[in-house]
Amino acid sequence: MRETKMPRAFIEGCFLMDSSRIHENVDRDFDDMVSVISKIIEIPSVLDENAISEAHPFGPRVTEALDAFLEEAKKRGFSTSNIDNMAGYAEVGEGPLFGILAHLDVMPAGALANWRRPPFHAVVEDGRLYGRGVSDDKGPAVSALFALKALADSGVKLNRRFRVIVGLDEESGFRCVERYKKTEEIPVMSFSPDADFPVVNGEKGILHFFLRKKFSSIDAMGLPELVNISGGDRFNIVPDELDVFFRKASAGNLELVLEPIGARVAATGNGVLVKVYGKSAHAMEPHKGENAIQKFLSAVQNMDFGPPSLHVELLKLAALFKNETDGASLGVACEDDISGALTCNLAAISLDGDMLSVKCDIRYPVKKRGDSLIEAIQNSAEEMGWELEIARRSEPLYVDPDSELVKVLLESYASITKEPAAPKSIGGGTYCKALPNAVSFGPLFPGDEETAHQPNEYISMDSLRKMTHVYAEAISRFNSSV
Ligand SMILES: [Zn+2]
Repeated sequence: MRETKMPRAFIEGCFLMDSSRIHENVDRDFDDMVSVISKIIEIPSVLDENAISEAHPFGPRVTEALDAFLEEAKKRGFSTSNIDNMAGYAEVGEGPLFGILAHLDVMPAGALANWRRPPFHAVVEDGRLYGRGVSDDKGPAVSALFALKALADSGVKLNRRFRVIVGLDEESGFRCVERYKKTEEIPVMSFSPDADFPVVNGEKGILHFFLRKKFSSIDAMGLPELVNISGGDRFNIVPDELDVFFRKASAGNLELVLEPIGARVAATGNGVLVKVYGKSAHAMEPHKGENAIQKFLSAVQNMDFGPPSLHVELLKLAALFKNETDGASLGVACEDDISGALTCNLAAISLDGDMLSVKCDIRYPVKKRGDSLIEAIQNSAEEMGWELEIARRSEPLYVDPDSELVKVLLESYASITKEPAAPKSIGGGTYCKALPNAVSFGPLFPGDEETAHQPNEYISMDSLRKMTHVYAEAISRFNSSV
């Protein structure tokens, strides 16, 4: 089509007219949207390792959630595709491909006693929609679908193909996106409704590693003998509890040294059990927690125990991690102006026979690359005589704040919410890292309570409506920008 120059006011007038019809459609279909979300919430699409098969790679209930989503999309005019029951998509329009990346698997409900309503049954109460997955990520997936429907129903010509891609194991690895990427078209740009508004355009890099050292378990020579130390579990959590067990020890002597760190010391039949408490936090913000392992290590230099070589290795660890969360002593401290400082979480410690191991989680700034950090950690490990094993490595994500993608999303957000909108960086690793030119866009508004992965997960009906308007506004702007 030949370009004809139109006065700017006229173009904007057209745009506003289209846009208001789209937003009317969002409100018109709101109840229908809630009913579709509710239907999909009823399906407990939790990864079931015991029920996986070739046909149902994440278990039959997860497949069922995909079938339900695709069926509802099809009924509303979308073309759909199921990719080996690992992912799927609903698509509308013509032209270059724009992606919206969401997921339909959910975290397990956990202890049912913590839920005030059945987790897999959507209930509206006090202006909130409750149920496992309403905010992460079934609600946002369906919200994006209805935003597209609002645009498609408005009669405006679609200049892009908009595709809601739904993965089925976002919570347990990204096998779904990896499978998608093998055979399916990669969108020119994408957003993912699976984190925060306004726009998350930076995600730190993540390094998970183990450090291990064999020590010689020769006689403690009359000293109390440390026979067990265990604390922490997952890489991404600041450990809030540590158990240390000493044989041939007296509680009184240990109390003296460990009282200042608030440890609980108790004599048992054949020794003394020490419990050190801290405060858990997410590894992306370790300074908000209190690391029980680091607390204990800080006391090791004032303690006398054996075996001597274990004592020495614990002293080395204490020197390597100190009471820091910036990785300074490990040799990796750094920061940038976009995403701030590197964070370091000493996540777990354990003793297995004569092997002492620790687990560590590092989140590094978006301008940094993993290689130089691994080299620095390797050097520190070698100096100590410890063995390093990298368990996970995920490079940072950063999308230019002046890119069309980020600018249009921010403008759309601001125009609906009337709130200031600036892009932000987080320490987490979302789905967006799996696709080029992708950023997180919602669903959590600033000030909303985060209930994802928790009992009594909910989303306020107001936020659900507002987010759908924001998504509708964004895709309508992208549709006009081709
Ligand atoms: Zn999610």
